[in-house]
Amino acid sequence: MGILELTIPMATGNGTIPIHPVLLWDDQDIILVDCGGIDAYDAVEQELLSLDLSISALTGLVLTHHDHDHMGSAFAIKRVNPAIKIYASKLEAPYITQEVKPLRLEQAEAMQATLPEQQQAFGKAFVAMLRKVQPVGIDEFLSDGQLLPWCGGCEVMVTSGHTPGHISLYLEHAAIVIAGDAMALEDGLPSIANPQFTLDLQQAEQSLEKLLELKASAYYCYHGGIYIPKDIHTKSGNN
Ligand SMILES: [Zn+2]
Repeated sequence: MGILELTIPMATGNGTIPIHPVLLWDDQDIILVDCGGIDAYDAVEQELLSLDLSISALTGLVLTHHDHDHMGSAFAIKRVNPAIKIYASKLEAPYITQEVKPLRLEQAEAMQATLPEQQQAFGKAFVAMLRKVQPVGIDEFLSDGQLLPWCGGCEVMVTSGHTPGHISLYLEHAAIVIAGDAMALEDGLPSIANPQFTLDLQQAEQSLEKLLELKASAYYCYHGGIYIPKDIHTKSGNN
């Protein structure tokens, strides 16, 4: 039984930055939480191979939300491993299956017109990339408070704001939160993920607060890595 942060590259306009899907496993299940962008399949596979695992060994894939950097390789994973169960919240599902136009694509298209000249090319490339995201079906909806048996017990927490149906996972027995984009780590401090890509700022702030109130010992942030809050003694000590 264990939990491990993976590291794969995400392409940006000028290079790559690391992003962090999370792997959870026990005797029954091997669950991947988020799976990188549209070109991330090989990098995910490499990470799994380095652990003596493979895409085919995965039993489940949780998508915290519909953003391309979290679900972009889900289609390729499902094609190689049709038995894998894909999980997401009911609110987020229509944007993942693309029954409804993804909100991120809508936002990017709407923003294109307002971008200054020097950002037009970037905006265009971003929209083109979002249009390449392939939809994938959801096998099971996850809802707030639902308890999953994975890894000794794993609670679903709705953490909306970044997107309407964003979810995080809470492993109470291990005091670990898998935050997705409900928390990002910037310069060693927890914050909401890029406000420019946050669809409801107030909700996102509340969700971040909700996660911090759990007083977990480790928060796995998709952007930024693992946040370990300082021990209360250190905070209230003589420093
Ligand atoms: Zn993200």
